[in-house]
Amino acid sequence: MSAHIPLSSLVAADKDRTFQCQPSATLAKTTCPYCGVGCGVDVQIEQVGVGGQTQIKQVNGTSDHPANFGRLCVKGSKLRETNGLDGRLLSPKIQGQDVDWHKATEHVASKFKQIIAEHGPGAVAFYVSGQLLTEDYYVANKLMKGYIGTANIDTNSRLCMSSAVSAYKRAFGADAVPCNYEDLELADLIVFIGSNAAWTHPVLFQRIERAKKLNPAIKIVTVDPRQTGTGEIADLHLGIKSGTDTALFNGLLNYLQQENKLDQDYIDANTEGFAAALACSKEWSIDKVAQVCDIPAADVATFYQLFAQSERTISAYTMGVNQSSSGTDKANSIINCHLASGKLGREGCGPFSLTGQPNAMGGREVGGLANMLAAHMDIDNPQHQQLVQSYWQSPAIPKRIGLKAVDMFDEVHKGNIKAIWIMATNPMVSMPNRGKIASALEKCEFVVVSDCVAKNDTLAMADVVLPATGWSEKNGTVTNSERRISRQRSILSAPGLAKHDWQIICDVAKAMGFEQGFNYAHPSEIFREHAGLTAYQNAGSRALDLSALQNISEKEYDRLKPIQWPITQDNPEGTARLFAGGEFFTASKKAQFIALQPKAPEVTTSEAFPFVLNSGRIRDQWHTMTRTGKTAELTGHIDRAFVHMHPLDAKSNGISEGDFVVLSSAISAKYLETNSTQKVVMPVKLQKQQRRGELFVPIHWSASNSSSSAVAALYSDATDDISGQPELKHTAVNVDLCHFSAHGQLFSRNKLNHNLLNQIAEYWTEVPIEQGSLIYFATNHADVASELQINLPLCTEWFSSQHKSDGGEIRNTFALRDSVIDLVLFADANAPMMDVNWINSLLQQSTLDDQQKSALLRATPDPAFAQGRLVCSCFKVGENTIVDAIKQGCDSVDKLGDKLKCGTNCGSCKTELKQLVKSHIFGENITILDAELKPLQTGT
Ligand code: SF4
Repeated sequence: MSAHIPLSSLVAADKDRTFQCQPSATLAKTTCPYCGVGCGVDVQIEQVGVGGQTQIKQVNGTSDHPANFGRLCVKGSKLRETNGLDGRLLSPKIQGQDVDWHKATEHVASKFKQIIAEHGPGAVAFYVSGQLLTEDYYVANKLMKGYIGTANIDTNSRLCMSSAVSAYKRAFGADAVPCNYEDLELADLIVFIGSNAAWTHPVLFQRIERAKKLNPAIKIVTVDPRQTGTGEIADLHLGIKSGTDTALFNGLLNYLQQENKLDQDYIDANTEGFAAALACSKEWSIDKVAQVCDIPAADVATFYQLFAQSERTISAYTMGVNQSSSGTDKANSIINCHLASGKLGREGCGPFSLTGQPNAMGGREVGGLANMLAAHMDIDNPQHQQLVQSYWQSPAIPKRIGLKAVDMFDEVHKGNIKAIWIMATNPMVSMPNRGKIASALEKCEFVVVSDCVAKNDTLAMADVVLPATGWSEKNGTVTNSERRISRQRSILSAPGLAKHDWQIICDVAKAMGFEQGFNYAHPSEIFREHAGLTAYQNAGSRALDLSALQNISEKEYDRLKPIQWPITQDNPEGTARLFAGGEFFTASKKAQFIALQPKAPEVTTSEAFPFVLNSGRIRDQWHTMTRTGKTAELTGHIDRAFVHMHPLDAKSNGISEGDFVVLSSAISAKYLETNSTQKVVMPVKLQKQQRRGELFVPIHWSASNSSSSAVAALYSDATDDISGQPELKHTAVNVDLCHFSAHGQLFSRNKLNHNLLNQIAEYWTEVPIEQGSLIYFATNHADVASELQINLPLCTEWFSSQHKSDGGEIRNTFALRDSVIDLVLFADANAPMMDVNWINSLLQQSTLDDQQKSALLRATPDPAFAQGRLVCSCFKVGENTIVDAIKQGCDSVDKLGDKLKCGTNCGSCKTELKQLVKSHIFGENITILDAELKPLQTGT
């Protein structure tokens, strides 16, 4: 068998290596602001002109950062391109009017004070974000819990991993991830559950891909209703029916017992509750699991054998497990199997919650969730209440948990919360039940939003907006999925009037009269206080312990190397793994098995809503696209929202590839009458990897860039009872075919007003391109070109061609402004989409020759621009180019890389390259047999 060769062993060959974290004049070291992998980023900086401004010249992965060892995915590698000042919020505003900071701060403070005086502290709330740095989070939590005196502060991390947190707490007595990234390279078996790591944690996925390539004996199993790119490296894919994870892992527990694969010594010495958990799993035979999960029994058996036989196993899970009304149980069902087989607390083992956001864990460390105090202490523990209050010397401390995200907005909607401050997040797009969120914010007496961007769907609802610094300006720490604290460093100065979030919060706190607790001059002072609280009366009773950092100087803080907590006098270099000694943080010091009965999702399908809707992320976008949506380099891969549907489901509903459909659910219908932005209309993409009866939509689009692609409108308030995490992976929807007389593309050098887009089209999505923007549209408007001509008087010369085609009328138009091409329109019932690069090349020119004009009117692109859909964002390689190369003999990803360079930089596209090779070498295609068309079962 080949050896496991973790990346760290190659770098660690130089024993004297020290992490080079001190910025120089031209190089700064910081951390990526996107996903929970927490990659280190080297930023090369340059001065523009003599004594001019500092700007970012280039970004690279930090070669000795233990999360990424020099790698960055496509999102990280485009940080320079998305970091411009366009679209930034640069000044505080009250009711849309610019004001100075004094006025804004006083206004926010006095409104909060007034509402607290009239209605009590429970009438105000903060909704914060995993995008904040730990220092920002710390002071926000301190203000709300220690000074205002309520626990009504919750974070968008509630939507991401709160079920994983609840499960860790139930099992281990602490929100403590036991393992680390290196364990993924040391495992014999990696089980991905509800995770498309290839797209959502790309650098981590590539570390695993590399480990498997070096050691093919490593087995990989994917458990997911969808077969995604992650499955490209899997030995076995279990395409379970949505929501049946607990049944699968109950069955595994039963199997381990039946096959004598339990680690009885570990169970006896280190755990409690095994008998009850086993009793619950008894009924879950392989056959029953196969039936309930709707997968072949042989595959279930293979998975169970692999788990039982593998000495070292990691189960890595993300939102597919967590975003469920039984997410905590699902995570505990996984943990049960690790406890039962002793696969915990040693190399290559553990149940591993992969965090979505860059600082979800840092937020939890300082009490960013409504059910926690700072430093992982419990609100319902009087000793912890006293401890935190005495450390803070604060006037108040909450005695009961506050409102979790869904409940918080529910109380806003009911009018019980009268002031809410939303920081660095966009709940209008990310929270379920968009209609209710919109209605709640409309009704709310006082809405404050602090953000680094000027426009998004939530900012549009604010009474006061406060400009915050963004990545490259912020200064503080973040904690990634493996408990590793890294520095985000301030490289550029704050633009306009933007301030750091911790400064904004402290200024408001002081304006509210809380002078004592918020006098910090530098984030290192906040970090020291935070580290001190983790150490305060700890003595090994709490997992989170940063005692070795509680006295670090500002200089040491600036030089802080990436380090995993706990960081104590005994382990000043941090701690790679937890629970090696078999002691946990429960009262008995033993890990707890949880007895579990699988639960069905809360919203089930019906005749009216027969499809299960799943949602998730795409490769090149982050959250609600306010940053990654700014550059054509990241929108080129997938440029508009879509709904994936199985070809058989499509055929039985009379739907074809590219048809537009309306998606509706019981909850979206409720708000549709009063708010048209609740409508969800998208083109269909046929996907045979999709399970029958299940659909998938991406989560990123909003009213800021599309007429009708905000899918949060479809999701209900269903949450996990324990964690409060919303069920964003499962709701029931209907799909109706949408008829439009024409659809097409509108390219514009200048940004078009969204009101005009609403006038010309029922559906539209706006995409940035190099030379302006591209609007995909679908319409029943009789004459889009004339409508544009009326509304765009600065375009003075219009050229049109009009003729009949099989599908109906074709109308191609372009317009000149000051004799320069400004706008191009292709509208047709069945037109193929034109290559964006072709139009970009024309928009770059000041004048067009007759041949180019004629080509535009005939919609016949120059053959040089026939690349097709962008697959490799780094080297701009399109699908058609790749397919041509495959046909010419490039039958592997490596050969494609040699010929076209695709996949050779960030590697994010490698799973798609593999899929293209497979489908074009092995000729996989979609054939539909009428015999396969079965009616859908509802009630799932
Ligand atoms: Fe950033 Fe990509 Fe690394 Fe995640 S994997 S931290 S998005 S570079």
